[in-house]
Amino acid sequence: MSPISRTIEHTDLETIVGLAKRRGFVFQASEIYGGLGSTWDYGPLGVELKRNVKDVWWKSMVRDRDDIVGLDSAILQSPEVWMASGHVDSFSDPLVECGNCHRRYRADDIGDTCPHCDSSDLSAPRQFNLLFKTFMGPVEDDAAVIYLRPETAQGIFINFDNVQTTTRKRIPFGIAQIGKSFRNEVTPGNFIFRTREFEQMEMEFFCKPGSDEEWHRYWINFSEEWFKEFGIRADNLRVRAHEADELPHYSKGSSDVEYQFPWGWGELETISNRTDFDLKAHIERSGRDLSFFDDDAGERYVPYVVEPAMGADRSALAFLADAYDEEGEGKDKRTVLHFHPDIAPVAVAVLPLSRNEKLTPKAREVYDLVRVNFNAQFDDTQSIGRRYRRQDEIGTPLCVTVDFQTVEEDNAVTIRDRDTMDQIRVPIDNLRAALDDRLAEIRSTCRG
Ligand SMILES: [Zn+2]
Repeated sequence: MSPISRTIEHTDLETIVGLAKRRGFVFQASEIYGGLGSTWDYGPLGVELKRNVKDVWWKSMVRDRDDIVGLDSAILQSPEVWMASGHVDSFSDPLVECGNCHRRYRADDIGDTCPHCDSSDLSAPRQFNLLFKTFMGPVEDDAAVIYLRPETAQGIFINFDNVQTTTRKRIPFGIAQIGKSFRNEVTPGNFIFRTREFEQMEMEFFCKPGSDEEWHRYWINFSEEWFKEFGIRADNLRVRAHEADELPHYSKGSSDVEYQFPWGWGELETISNRTDFDLKAHIERSGRDLSFFDDDAGERYVPYVVEPAMGADRSALAFLADAYDEEGEGKDKRTVLHFHPDIAPVAVAVLPLSRNEKLTPKAREVYDLVRVNFNAQFDDTQSIGRRYRRQDEIGTPLCVTVDFQTVEEDNAVTIRDRDTMDQIRVPIDNLRAALDDRLAEIRSTCRG
């Protein structure tokens, strides 16, 4: 199958934000109270989209592989963790404040004047720590301060020995985790791209020192291919190696997989060679031995770590932006999201031709059949043409239509394809196999 043809190459962020709100993907958080800056709530379709992104990642990383296992560590950890990792001391951005309007900026985001009021009365940069602080227990004093985790990675490092011992995994192996992280960013923005509360998909791959650079290349390639497999067009992806002065304190080398967002290239994932920095820091601070005895090599060492770290929210945004297209003219015009079937919030919509006492029970029956195996939606409001457009606009790959011929003649239904708009007639008895076949074909055309 040839790739899906596209009418427009890129759309603007406003269009994506508008669609996201109109169709229930993403809402402004605390909207009825005027909104809370740069925080967002995922609506019924958005939560399915993001869940699918996380599920396909988990399947690729954990369930399909023998050398990676999963973990779900706590958001709240001992403050010692963040002291050892360097976050308490050095996880900060240079902040400047405008003396006139008192807005605050990241020093490296602005020039000599305030972008808001043009005043040149800017303070000298001071370091602003990005950790979110809170208190544990009823007393709000210094001894009770704890932090919301700024990355899921440390929860993995501090459990290295627990996981290795219980699973008996040998080096090289990885530990993957999906979860919320928090960073008190000075300048969040671009919708769900940069937010203070966000969800990460991280995997720490423990390997023998000396094999780290090879594994680094392996995971960079794996990550780029992963986005293509699930439908991001190759032209909109690139890999960019960090310059020496961009490297975080723990990294020997980092590369970003970037996506061409409506505002320009932005990071989806960073693949870092964290060396033995983190394990050694925890060995030193905790006094616990986190080294590994390698039977094959007959030696003991502290493993090196290669980390692919991905943002779930910004990946969901990339899938949404990349799927977007507008086709046709006049009354045939349609907006369509060409999601990969495993990413699409709804895989199959079941639609009676019209709301009718003969059709509705049969359509319900078909819906109950379909929903066992597919994420399905039932819709019997408005005309069939409008319902097809609505499903196109949320990226549903297949619609199953129940009509009078179904109930009066052949016990068959029509399957309509989102991308080609072709329709085929299939006996209900063969529906599951037919849907599987059609979805497999759409998967192959979605490859970026
Ligand atoms: Zn100002």
